[in-house]
Amino acid sequence: MKTDTIAAIATALSDSGIGIIRISGEEAITIADKIFLTPGGNHILKKVQSHTIHYGYVIDSKLQKLDEVMVSVFRAPKSYTAEDTVEINCHGGILVMQKLLELVCQNGARLAEPGEFTKRAFLNGRIDLSKAEAVMDMIRSQNEYAMKASLDQIQGKLSGQIRKLREEILYEIAFIESALDDPEHISLDHYPEQLEEKLKSVETKISGLIATFINGKMIKNGISTVILGKPNVGKSSILNLLVGEERAIVTDIAGTTRDVLQESINLHGIHLNLIDTAGIRETEDKIEKIGVERAKQYAGQADLILYVVDTSRKLDENDRDIVTFIKNNSDKKTIVLLNKNDLDVKTDEEKLQKEFEKQGVSCDTFKRNFVIIKTSAKEGSGVKELEETVKNMFLSGVIRNQDEVIITNLRHKEALQEAFDSIKLVQKSIADGMPEDFYSIDLMNAYRSLGLIIGEEVEDDLVEEIFSKFCMGK
Ligand code: GDP
Repeated sequence: MKTDTIAAIATALSDSGIGIIRISGEEAITIADKIFLTPGGNHILKKVQSHTIHYGYVIDSKLQKLDEVMVSVFRAPKSYTAEDTVEINCHGGILVMQKLLELVCQNGARLAEPGEFTKRAFLNGRIDLSKAEAVMDMIRSQNEYAMKASLDQIQGKLSGQIRKLREEILYEIAFIESALDDPEHISLDHYPEQLEEKLKSVETKISGLIATFINGKMIKNGISTVILGKPNVGKSSILNLLVGEERAIVTDIAGTTRDVLQESINLHGIHLNLIDTAGIRETEDKIEKIGVERAKQYAGQADLILYVVDTSRKLDENDRDIVTFIKNNSDKKTIVLLNKNDLDVKTDEEKLQKEFEKQGVSCDTFKRNFVIIKTSAKEGSGVKELEETVKNMFLSGVIRNQDEVIITNLRHKEALQEAFDSIKLVQKSIADGMPEDFYSIDLMNAYRSLGLIIGEEVEDDLVEEIFSKFCMGK
């Protein structure tokens, strides 16, 4: 396939030690050769071996030296894009990089689109789609777990599992088709039972991958956390303690925090996206209610709720409201912070537990579902315990199971879900005693859905969309 030659600045567009201009395509080496001279004044790049690096100068059309550079040459197919590729390491000034890129384009390359190098690697069959997506995830990784998940995918751990599943499914499709074509030699007696058995294992593997998505999503995007509590219990103070800076304005006038505050903190390598909805409290009771309502809206979508209780005051209507909310959202992880622990205690764990009991939450369930931590935002106590608790809640599975492939990409999760649904349909057809050709249709759908993940069955516009999200020069 003949493609044009593309070029881009592959490093950040800011002043730095070095900058890299990447060129890829059939003319890459010819173009680089035109503008590169060795210190002895020779054009050598057309003749050099692949994977070699050369010192010299970039010269413009008037033979003026523009920069002192190192040029690496990678010949097809052993390059990032699987095409002839040249990388010019120049000085990392914005003007220098732009001048060199301009020169490369004047000599026959065109400006690459975002992600076009990786797209070429995909279109040339060097990497599959999930690996290409992992490249971008790696660049965007915010923490070490996201980095590890991306590297696993770049190395093909996910693709490997998907390919295996597809092979298993394809084998069954082929078997059914052959048996239907040649009933005299291939019997389908007892086949439904055998297929049912095999599908059980396929189903388990697919649902296992889907199950990693929740953790995977949190690893990639952070744990969405909402701090709930009536006004003046110390929500902003706790947020500030966790963030480590005086970001939220803390005063003892109830309702200082007027709107939603959002902070991102890195806790043992994982991101916590903290939303402090605070008390949007005015003097009237009605508006105070709106604050709690608003907080609950956010909490409804959160992964983790931090419920802050002011132990120096009695539980009131607002607390009851929050307790009801927590009880009705028992699928969310909840940590209760008994704050202002340094003051005289009017509300303790027992009183809070009684409140939950009134809502029909038994003492056992209370103890099992909620982690209770005593804090004093004023003295800074309890924060370490809170950090440890969050880490254990969300990361224990991930840390323990290093070899598990983690799904971090929504597109992959959706494709797995489609495959899962199709397998379920096959199982239903078997249970309903439908003829075998019914199985193949849904098996084929499952096969195709899994193919979407590695890019075997994707439409061109989806490929365009995926790569358009990449950064320039990648
Ligand atoms: P919010 O309205 O829930 O965000 O509460 P703030 O964080 O604004 O705190 C309200 C008041 O309680 C401020 O005066 C804080 O200094 C004070 N406060 C917060 N946490 C503690 C604590 O643990 N102990 C004591 N004694 N005061 C606290």
